[in-house]
Amino acid sequence: MRFCTLSSCSYANSIVVQDRQTCVLVDCGLRKRDIKPFLAGVGLAPGDIDAVLVTHCHIDHVYGLKYLLKERKIPVYSSSPVLKQLCARNSFSGQPDFRALSPVAPENIGTLAVNHFGLFHDVETIGFIISGDGEKMGLITDTGFVPDYCLQAFKTVDYLYIESNHDLEMYKHSKKPPHVIRRNLGTTGHLSNEQCGLALKSMGLLNCKLVVLGHLSEEDNEPRRAIAGARQFLPPDTTLLCAPPRIPGPWSVPVPGT
Ligand SMILES: [Zn+2]
Ligand SMILES: [Zn+2]
Repeated sequence: MRFCTLSSCSYANSIVVQDRQTCVLVDCGLRKRDIKPFLAGVGLAPGDIDAVLVTHCHIDHVYGLKYLLKERKIPVYSSSPVLKQLCARNSFSGQPDFRALSPVAPENIGTLAVNHFGLFHDVETIGFIISGDGEKMGLITDTGFVPDYCLQAFKTVDYLYIESNHDLEMYKHSKKPPHVIRRNLGTTGHLSNEQCGLALKSMGLLNCKLVVLGHLSEEDNEPRRAIAGARQFLPPDTTLLCAPPRIPGPWSVPVPGT
């Protein structure tokens, strides 16, 4: 399997995950004008997307969903509470194909198997473990802390996308209003570089090929700080990257045949 981010920051988030047969988007927070060019930038078109998985209803994760669904009728998967909030906050034209993930069993989407788990944010939020081609990827973003479940379940992932939102030192000089900083630092906010590093330490990743740090704040974080917070807790042969904001990042592995 392979994955890449189409955008990863507080402005817009979307990640492509695919195996040989099935291609899904995790979130679609892109502007309308960016959807096709960003997909084209990684060699894809809306017609290639088999399903969208939604982590939560914040605008930086779902803004472009209604535009993508106008291009192509694609099933949208999430937990029942997330789907309920998504419908309450958005007007979708027609009858969108929303499908609730089972709270107990993994969901098969084409050839991918999707497990989800609850996170701790100020709206209902879930993370995913996606399996395909005999490999496993963990995705965790927009949470105030990392639940024990993840620390255990992520130990054996081959790929990891994890939030590393802000740097505590930089928050001391942040231009954000105090109530926003309080929210982001709280147990239903976002993971700091420090929290991300501690989570990686606790996970003790055994055979992870690639860790991508995501959702970096463009004002209150820097890639070099996020990398410094994480590198020390990873095996030397695990590749560590920061996802770029507002543009597609590289595929986790090269496109076959190139
Ligand atoms: Zn977000
Ligand atoms: Zn959020």
